[in-house]
Amino acid sequence: MALTGLEIYKQLPKTNCKECGFPTCLAFAMKMATKQVSLDKCPHVTDAGKAALESAARPPIQLVTIGTETKEIKIGNETQLFRHEEKFHREGAVAIRISDTLDDDALAARAEAAGHLKFERVGREIKVNLVAVCNESGDPARFAAAARLAAEKSGLACVLISEKAANLGKAADALAGQRPLLYISDPAEAEAAAKVAKDNSCPLAVRADGLEALAELTPKVSPIVQELVLDPGTRDLKSTLEALTAIRRLSLKNFRPLGYPIMAFTTAEDPIQQVVELSTFLAKYGGVVVTDAIEKWQLLPALTTRQDIFIDPQKPVAVEPKLNAIGEVGENAPVLVTTNFSLSYYSVESEVESSRVPAYVLAVDTEGTSVLTAWASDKFNAETITQALKKSGVEEKIGHRKLVIPGFVAVLSAGVEDESGWSVLIGPKEASGIPNFLKNQWQAS
Ligand code: SF4
Repeated sequence: MALTGLEIYKQLPKTNCKECGFPTCLAFAMKMATKQVSLDKCPHVTDAGKAALESAARPPIQLVTIGTETKEIKIGNETQLFRHEEKFHREGAVAIRISDTLDDDALAARAEAAGHLKFERVGREIKVNLVAVCNESGDPARFAAAARLAAEKSGLACVLISEKAANLGKAADALAGQRPLLYISDPAEAEAAAKVAKDNSCPLAVRADGLEALAELTPKVSPIVQELVLDPGTRDLKSTLEALTAIRRLSLKNFRPLGYPIMAFTTAEDPIQQVVELSTFLAKYGGVVVTDAIEKWQLLPALTTRQDIFIDPQKPVAVEPKLNAIGEVGENAPVLVTTNFSLSYYSVESEVESSRVPAYVLAVDTEGTSVLTAWASDKFNAETITQALKKSGVEEKIGHRKLVIPGFVAVLSAGVEDESGWSVLIGPKEASGIPNFLKNQWQAS
């Protein structure tokens, strides 16, 4: 949370010595509050003052980095309880659980499957982020070998889960330089695990039973390793949701012992309930969610939920406003017009694809708003549609002058005909009606 000038001023020497280049300590503090100058410009601030300022300037939820380079994931540093207050910044990471008791073939197959769990939605890739290797064998050598194999076959960063700090050390050695998240399930081993995390430059996840126990544990390990992730130890949907919400609330009130990202586990055996738990924990404050769900039909709805929650609610997701050819278009290809709101555009595009009728789809620049919103705000009208048609160059590509407009804005048809000189066909109201329309109603001549 940003400090005010007066809060900073309280920690300065107040001698007005001017060595920082400012006439008074207060002037320096005011500049520092707006981030135009850094604390190192004052040579006289005490160590206690420096520590107090650094601690107070720390974000309410610590930023934690897992993995490196292309596999790197950042969690934490969130500032809001509710998305509509601003936005959520960093998606929770999904980790597929893999036991080190699996034989190598089964382990490699599961890791490869996890690495392939990715989908394209509204022009963006949504995917699983981590593999969570569990030391169920209790054998450090097997754990290390399993971690190496899972990382290699999945192509993902790892979470290493064990109740023994020494076993975490072995597996962390096997993934040297890859910055896995180390998770220690036994609170009594947390301080030893913190030393392992520090020696290997890894973040650490700690577990304790309940928020009070967690708040007592983190001050013991945070001086050793700063990048912590918290597991409140709950394992059912209701109590986990309550714990995650309470931790987020307390951390945003600057309760430092709980100011870290949170980890949750899905535990349901029923595959549908696993999706419910996964989606819930991703929507409600899970920084890392470990799950057994590995089927595509399970991950797609959960990752879709996550994508929707983490999109900036104040910025519509837009596609580039332009003419797009779908399939092998010829001079009789239909031309459909929609807005550049990505959900509208991709709904139309996917229905045109499924119709197997090659067509042009013209996305008009409506600043990323949907058809009805753009029409209501006068961004999708006869003039903007006509301008987009002319600019697209579609008239040189086709031999007809028929434009299909969305059924919801049939009222625009006369205006578009007058403005553009094209004939207008009223298309279906919903994109799902496009295949039937193109196969049975569309005619170029
Ligand atoms: Fe104050 Fe430090 Fe600047 Fe001196 S150098 S005026 S003590 S802020």
